[in-house]
Amino acid sequence: MANILRDLPQIQSLLERPAIAQIAGRFSRDEATDALRRITARLRSESLAAKRDSLPNFDSDAFAQDLVREIETARKPSLRPVINATGILIHTNLGRARLAPSALDAMQNIGGGPSNLELTLETGKRGSRHDHVERQICDLTGAEAAVVVNNCAAAVLLALMATANGRSVVASRGELIEIGGAFRLPDVIAQSGATLREVGATNKTRISDYEAAIDADTAVLLKSHTSNFRIIGFTAAADRRDLAKLSAERQVILMEDLGSGVLIDLSPFGLGDEPVVADILKTGVDLVMFSGDKLLGGPQAGILAGRKDIIARLKSHPLMRAVRIDKLSLAALEATLRLYTAPHDPLVDVPVLRMLAEPAAQVLHRAERLRDSLLGIGVADVDVQPCAAFVGAGSLPLQDLESHAVTIRLPDHSADNLCTALREHETPIIGRIEKDRVMLDMRTVDEDELPIIERAFSLLLSQ
Ligand SMILES: *Cc1c(COP(=O)(O)O)cnc(C)c1O
Repeated sequence: MANILRDLPQIQSLLERPAIAQIAGRFSRDEATDALRRITARLRSESLAAKRDSLPNFDSDAFAQDLVREIETARKPSLRPVINATGILIHTNLGRARLAPSALDAMQNIGGGPSNLELTLETGKRGSRHDHVERQICDLTGAEAAVVVNNCAAAVLLALMATANGRSVVASRGELIEIGGAFRLPDVIAQSGATLREVGATNKTRISDYEAAIDADTAVLLKSHTSNFRIIGFTAAADRRDLAKLSAERQVILMEDLGSGVLIDLSPFGLGDEPVVADILKTGVDLVMFSGDKLLGGPQAGILAGRKDIIARLKSHPLMRAVRIDKLSLAALEATLRLYTAPHDPLVDVPVLRMLAEPAAQVLHRAERLRDSLLGIGVADVDVQPCAAFVGAGSLPLQDLESHAVTIRLPDHSADNLCTALREHETPIIGRIEKDRVMLDMRTVDEDELPIIERAFSLLLSQ
């Protein structure tokens, strides 16, 4: 073992060998050097782990091929498409909402050249990027005015900074949430320069709690959607109408962080818990914030909608420039919002909603198709099994959706092993493990992604 390590040539001397020098010339010397470093590091650790007792022939064609493969792997983009077979519709780690074709077209159209992003075509004068979607958002939510920023976290920070800096924000103890990635409402309130006044208890907050907490210092009553958890049992939250009445009487702003924020009623799909933005504004909430890439099904964005005077303050706030939406997201958002009006049907045309609303029988049909094709290429142990899919991204945490998974076991592969191999496919396939089998949930997999999965398994079987 010690001998191997001693005989391992220096990178510099490897680079001088004709076959390797030729490869370094074809790519670049730096890439070849980095690749050789990784290969020799692997040889070293394999030898130390007693998994290897001889060195490869560095002058052979086989080694040259390994080197080329190593360089090409390093050249692959870091950010790549994957197949989401997790059954989690809006998966934060997998890029959340997939965009509709028309949203992708809009991004291509606007990204590929100049646009009227901040130009009013009628007058030839400077315009505002906010104008492009404000009308649409108002029409869909009934808000007086609206503005869009980079994401919902930025929307919350901007809203608090512009309205409550140096004053106090009253919020229920049961709603002081943390969203993934260390977005904690109490910290965001502190960052905005406001002071948090917590009211109520973890499970119950009454209107009288808010009433008692409001003083001359109070600027905002903040409600937030407890997106990613539920308190069950003996619970109480103040009614929005009562909060709206109270905030109007005491002249403070009532705002609500909705998180997902849906534009249409999803109760026919058992998702009645998720409040519709227009209904919330109707109860008298002054300002709402919600994400563009959760149940709305668009690009990453934070939408603020509500009272005109508040939106005007947000638009002119110095932080606005730092959190503004970029033109590609704006283009995708405009196109996505259009899918909510006739002749479009969001349940058909917005991919996230289509997957959510798809009848379980159709999901089953897709699962059976994949099972049959995997059987056809020689996967012997493959089955279809009912399972539960979830919305994800903190939306509707307790609400499961009827779904079906293809479950697989390969000889000579542990479930862990197979999961890893699928993740390492050229288009990585992300599934989960249950009872020692790999499960591929078909609710989140598109029809045209099935051939990619089939190809991954034929490659695995041929190895
Ligand atoms: C998801 C979420 C956010 C953060 O939204 P991003 O668009 O990810 O910035 C804020 N508040 C609530 C309640 C959420 O669910």
